[in-house]
Amino acid sequence: MSETSDFIREIVRADLAAGRARTVVTRFPPEPNGYLHIGHAKSICLNFGVAAEFGGTCHLRFDDTNPVKEEQEFIDSIQQDVRWLGFDWGEHLHFASDYFEQLYEWAEHLIRAGLAYVDDTAPEAMRAQRGTLTEPGQNSPNRYRPVEENLDLFRRMRSGEFPNGARVLRAKIDMTSGNMNLRDPVLYRILHAHHPRTGDKWRIYPTYDFAHGQSDAIEHITHSICTLEFEDHKPLYDWLIENLPVPSRPRQYEFARLNISYTVLSKRILTRLVSENHVTGWDDPRMPTLAGLRRRGVPALALREFVRRIGVARAYSTVDVQQLDAAIREVLNPLAARRMAVLRPLKLIIENYPAGQTETLQAINHPDDPSAGTRPITFGREIYIEQDDFLEDPPKKFFRLSPGREVRLRYGYFVTCIGIERDSSGAIAALRCTYDPATKGGNAPDGRKVQATLHWVAAADAVKAEVRLYDHLFNRPAPGADGDVMADLNPASREILTLCLLEPALASATEGEAVQFERLGYFCRDRDSTGNHPVFNRTVALRDTWAKVQAETPKQVAAARKELSRWN
Ligand code: ATP
Ligand code: MG
Repeated sequence: MSETSDFIREIVRADLAAGRARTVVTRFPPEPNGYLHIGHAKSICLNFGVAAEFGGTCHLRFDDTNPVKEEQEFIDSIQQDVRWLGFDWGEHLHFASDYFEQLYEWAEHLIRAGLAYVDDTAPEAMRAQRGTLTEPGQNSPNRYRPVEENLDLFRRMRSGEFPNGARVLRAKIDMTSGNMNLRDPVLYRILHAHHPRTGDKWRIYPTYDFAHGQSDAIEHITHSICTLEFEDHKPLYDWLIENLPVPSRPRQYEFARLNISYTVLSKRILTRLVSENHVTGWDDPRMPTLAGLRRRGVPALALREFVRRIGVARAYSTVDVQQLDAAIREVLNPLAARRMAVLRPLKLIIENYPAGQTETLQAINHPDDPSAGTRPITFGREIYIEQDDFLEDPPKKFFRLSPGREVRLRYGYFVTCIGIERDSSGAIAALRCTYDPATKGGNAPDGRKVQATLHWVAAADAVKAEVRLYDHLFNRPAPGADGDVMADLNPASREILTLCLLEPALASATEGEAVQFERLGYFCRDRDSTGNHPVFNRTVALRDTWAKVQAETPKQVAAARKELSRWN
């Protein structure tokens, strides 16, 4: 993988060269109010990547300042996911809540310096006084409260004397500033809430703006890298650093957040997907969370490669979801062992093959890697192929099996369909075939050709399995662009097939081991598997037929969707 550079790395390089920084210290600062998603992966790769490339360190800091939405489950999952992605914070695991006492002291420092005041203006009136983007705000009547009174009230806020929302501590900056963030922003609010780490110790909690930069300063962060929505907060970030006796002076840099088509990367909406049961949980394989992607079988390497390819910039853009799928395929292709599985079985009875007899054929484990060797597979009188590989009345371009036609069975023989067996309702129950014993190994001695090679499993030893196919969770490129995002959920985002048949080698596949079901895609064993009931997830189809789905008629869309679960 080639070396990356981008404007952040250029800044760091220049700072080091000019001596503005002696070492690089970055941090990844998640709020533990949900699971990490692929957007966070971009931030993680950037922060940890920059630190590693310049010989510095990267901290994992939980921005745990809002106990109402934060949970231990999220603290645990975030650590697991960052590690899984391949990064290590060493001894630098931090929590903003570890700094609550220091932050409180600094708040008093601002009060004493006449730079902060307690305001008990009712929330509605306070909002009105803030003004708008085009009108300046108005000073609160409490803005000039004496220092002693402010200190007394702030301490009583801390001791829990007042109810939620009754008072706030505000910075005294400029109610006429063109930047709304400088119109006396709130630094502390009253919140009678149990905190996962500090328990019931605190009755007031610092806001993001008050906690973030100061936490950076305490940790001697040199480059505080965040997404562009914090650009307007930067003057406040700098104001606080300038007016507080902090031990270091970090600087904030912003980059454009990751957006992916057909995907939602808002924690608020991901939380709704889980709580409203649109998905089975944070690790549902359709979720863009790291836990979901991992469960779907996406390797961490594919995510790192995807992030490397999209780069880091300041301009907003939306990445095509196909780029993610392409990175996944490219990473899986050399890794995944080839196996055969039939998702929608159709029985094929080979009439000229002796009943009760079987034989062993050799199947290749990886076409590009001879050292991966071969494995034995069973062949016999009864085998299964995909229902989709047979058509009674084939259209012109259908080259697979049909009455009277000969095809090749992968690693095996040529077979010809000579008849159809039907059940009482007239549906196809099985196909009658003959095979040509001279075609063992897949070639005819007389040089005759066939147009298709089909995968198959033997009835004698096939293993029953459940296979789950996934499609995009949303069926519009920009979910929610016209209103309710839930209205854009794809009702066909998951298809569960329960009558699948696998070659026996797949029964021993482990979770997290990528396999390719020949002609069908990359798959991995799901943790819902039990001893005699394997469950597999499709990680990604072999080729992208999604492109066809876009901007076409509903009928074509339905046909293309069907094609997604097929092949050639
Ligand atoms: P919220 O703050 O609404 O809960 P968030 O997605 O910003 O959601 P954080 O936990 O605050 O969640 O994010 C941690 C870090 O990840 C932040 O520095 C944030 O800028 C970064 N981040 C979040 N979403 C993306 C994204 N889509 N692309 C790149 N970085 C992101
Ligand atoms: Mg955030």
